[in-house]
Amino acid sequence: MSRTLDAATRQAVAERVRFYRELGIFDLYRRAVDESAAELEAPIRAAEFAAAVESTAPEPEASASIDSQPASIAPITDRAVALRVIREDLGDCTRCPLHQQGRKQIVFGVGNPHAELMFVGEGPGADEDEQGEPFVGRAGQLLNNMITNGMGLRREDVYIANIVKCRPPQNRTPVPEECSICSPFLMRQIAVVRPRAIVALGAVAAKTLLGVNDTMANLRGRMYEFSPMVPHTAAEYDANYTAQLAVTYHPAYLLRDPRQKKETWKDLQMVMRFLGLPIPTKSTDGQ
Ligand code: URA
Repeated sequence: MSRTLDAATRQAVAERVRFYRELGIFDLYRRAVDESAAELEAPIRAAEFAAAVESTAPEPEASASIDSQPASIAPITDRAVALRVIREDLGDCTRCPLHQQGRKQIVFGVGNPHAELMFVGEGPGADEDEQGEPFVGRAGQLLNNMITNGMGLRREDVYIANIVKCRPPQNRTPVPEECSICSPFLMRQIAVVRPRAIVALGAVAAKTLLGVNDTMANLRGRMYEFSPMVPHTAAEYDANYTAQLAVTYHPAYLLRDPRQKKETWKDLQMVMRFLGLPIPTKSTDGQ
């Protein structure tokens, strides 16, 4: 005969399920239990197990039976909630050395969970670290101008995030290890928001998202088909989702070399054409 879970066991199961999800394991099977040993082993009842899983994940499909099938996870319906789940999974992150190098807070991402357009930067600077929001400093003001004056959108229409979510000390470039530890969370954000187009701002974002090592000159000027690297077993994500990705200069670089704004405007126009946005006849340099 099976019995219900006490609160501590329930909590432990929930934590274990969360741990598996972080490793990218989304489908959970429950072994058949030898009934004669059932009392001794205090097996988890299917309903109890399902409840623990539900406490860390979106609702399982109504038809799924934990005893006979994987605990499949329902496709995402509420993107804002799904983003909150990712933020919770990130927690008070200590996965890479950046957490010990003076970060004030994690800078998760901001914007419309249904955005058609996403911008991805490198990592938070001092202002972002202070305010907990990406691109709020000088580079952010230029990005805002590109979005509003250049593209005719509002900042709140798009989604903005970074490759790493903690400020590297002295605004140094994040190292590949930091990028690869942090970027799975960005991949999940992309898989939830499902923008039609992504603009990678600068070399770190471009190289991390595309998984290539090339110069900005070679990477710019075309659209790439992009699928976020989320585990293929993650049933909550749309396996057929792809975005078109463009690479352009980072706004901080444009502040140092404003002559490149014209090139950036060409990249943004390419994205606007793809999204079907009207392109103003008089060109703007995004200032
Ligand atoms: N630079 C970035 O890459 N990201 C920010 O959020 C701010 C500056």
